[in-house]
Amino acid sequence: MRTIAIMNQKGGVGKTTTSVNLAAGLARQGQRVCLIDLDPQAHSSIHLGIEAAGSPDTIYQVFAGGRTFDQVRQLVKENLWVAPSDLDLAATELELVDAAGREFVLKAALERADAEQQFDYIVMDCPPSLSVLTINALCAASEVIIPLQPHFFALQGLSKLLETTALVTRRLNRRLRVSGILLCLYETGTRLAADVTDDLMRFLQASDPQSPWSQARVFNSRIRRNIKLAEAPSFGQSIFDYAPGSSGSIDYGSLVSEVVSGGIAIPAPLAAAA
Ligand code: ADP
Ligand code: MG
Repeated sequence: MRTIAIMNQKGGVGKTTTSVNLAAGLARQGQRVCLIDLDPQAHSSIHLGIEAAGSPDTIYQVFAGGRTFDQVRQLVKENLWVAPSDLDLAATELELVDAAGREFVLKAALERADAEQQFDYIVMDCPPSLSVLTINALCAASEVIIPLQPHFFALQGLSKLLETTALVTRRLNRRLRVSGILLCLYETGTRLAADVTDDLMRFLQASDPQSPWSQARVFNSRIRRNIKLAEAPSFGQSIFDYAPGSSGSIDYGSLVSEVVSGGIAIPAPLAAAA
């Protein structure tokens, strides 16, 4: 089983869109996939047609100890399950503040549910923060994918994010790898997108080999801006069902192939130094 955290502490960069369409694309290939929604805004749950507000069967209850993972994950399509969230999940941060082992609640819940046997992939949609929920995702994950929107400030947040990942790798989860940076909301043909992409490559290449990001790779797949991707959530469908011929469907299809074939392309950030 591969457990992938889709993470960036910025909002609006394509985390949810990537989580949903990566999960749905993998499921279409016959992989058994569970998408775990770790954002209290519940966008990925809603994107797949699950409105969990008011239900006790949410990932919040897994953190609170009221439900097992198996009780909350639901089948939404062939091979695709969702562990939905709702606004209650916003309370988890405070509720876990003094809890021993609070970083490992999700990991333990997945182990108790024997998730390894049930799924080929787990995809986790993280909230736009480096909160305890995100740390739980990183502790349960085997890899991280970082969606990035190519604009002027994109690289500023990236080093912070990679440092956090490296810290978690060193202290809490030795098997964690950054499998790639994914350019989302990509404006083909614009000067800005090309410049930022060049800067990103240079930033990665020029990094100290000991730095957390020196080994990170940029996915060849780029997710172009496509209105169909923004429309699909309101129909409760992935891009593959909503607009199969669209550029969004082509781009996420390409990402799915890259994830499946590429496996884990990057050595652990700071693994050697750890
Ligand atoms: P995040 O989860 O990082 O906050 P989202 O995936 O929710 O980001 O994307 C933010 C907004 O941009 C959403 O309205 C989404 O539908 C839209 N969006 C995401 N990716 C694309 C894209 N490639 N083309 C057009 N709209 C997109
Ligand atoms: Mg989101």
